[in-house]
Amino acid sequence: MRIIIQKNKEKVAQWVANYVIQKINQANPKPNNPFVLGLPTGSTPLGTYREIIALHQAGKVSFKNIITFNMDEYVGLPENHSESYHYFMQHNLFDHLDIPSENINILNGNAPVLEHECESYEEKIEAVGGIDLFLGGIGPDGHIAFNEPGSSLNSRTRIKTLTYDTLVANSRFFDNDINKVPKTALTVGVGTILEAREVLIMATGYNKSRALQKVVEEPVNHMWTVSALQTHPRGIIVCDNEATMELKVGTVRYFKDIEKQEIL
Ligand code: PGA
Repeated sequence: MRIIIQKNKEKVAQWVANYVIQKINQANPKPNNPFVLGLPTGSTPLGTYREIIALHQAGKVSFKNIITFNMDEYVGLPENHSESYHYFMQHNLFDHLDIPSENINILNGNAPVLEHECESYEEKIEAVGGIDLFLGGIGPDGHIAFNEPGSSLNSRTRIKTLTYDTLVANSRFFDNDINKVPKTALTVGVGTILEAREVLIMATGYNKSRALQKVVEEPVNHMWTVSALQTHPRGIIVCDNEATMELKVGTVRYFKDIEKQEIL
């Protein structure tokens, strides 16, 4: 696993946006050979999305031949609700890119039969040849997408009940009232994410430092589901200095040395 440590969250956003654009341009996607990108929501990727939009507007990348799959969506929130992940993605990314709307895939949390929705999402991913690069965030409890602690590390797309920690963390978007946060969500599984050819996780801020320590320095563990990234042949974590606060000095120096970054 690569660990890229950047000075602050702005630098993380720039690094990740440049990496994504470089991967897309290297793949030189065509209509019959699209690039398939997995995407998260949350506050962490916002800076990256702004950088990607700026690079697109500067003519550095086109999303015409990109197919996207989002990680998750709440159950029962209308798509036009300002906290739905459909709304988030449209406003924070897709409205500003040249991506065809038929190339955008987000789980439908209002599907009549949620189990069918999950199965057909997996089938769609398979039908386009799998995901080339899956971007993700990390929850303070070490979750990836809504794969809460204790999720099977082989899990596939399914319905999950959100933990109290996640309800509290996400209540900031729902008037700080955890009763307004949907209690269930549809989410890709840890196994779904690990099948991507490459997985890149972003972690910024002190409140991610405990999770980062578990994921980087401790063994693979279903209580910190991002730790499954240790088993992926091409896993990258891009974090800021604040998120490394619980890592050993030696760990930080080791990864900075490997990446030939300045050792402070
Ligand atoms: P955040 O959420 O980016 O808003 O911190 C990350 C997550 O819960 O996966």
